[in-house]
Amino acid sequence: MSLVNEAKRSDKRMKSEYAVIVCPKCRKHVQIIDSGVKSTTCQRCGSRLDVRRLKVWCKTPDLNEAVSLRTAILMELDQ
Ligand SMILES: [Zn+2]
Repeated sequence: MSLVNEAKRSDKRMKSEYAVIVCPKCRKHVQIIDSGVKSTTCQRCGSRLDVRRLKVWCKTPDLNEAVSLRTAILMELDQ
């Protein structure tokens, strides 16, 4: 019984979502971040980004989905 509870609890802790964001400074860098973080740094221009103020393009618990969405957004920005 307690084992099940333990597993459930750690499962909840492990569960995180990925958020896809676009750097508002350079507008070219699409980044996948853990949706739980408050701030991140743009890997392209080095800007400090306040995640709560950013537009989150999508949130998904599936990393593969996040990666393909990132690619799709990148292609859209390129046009
Ligand atoms: Zn940037």
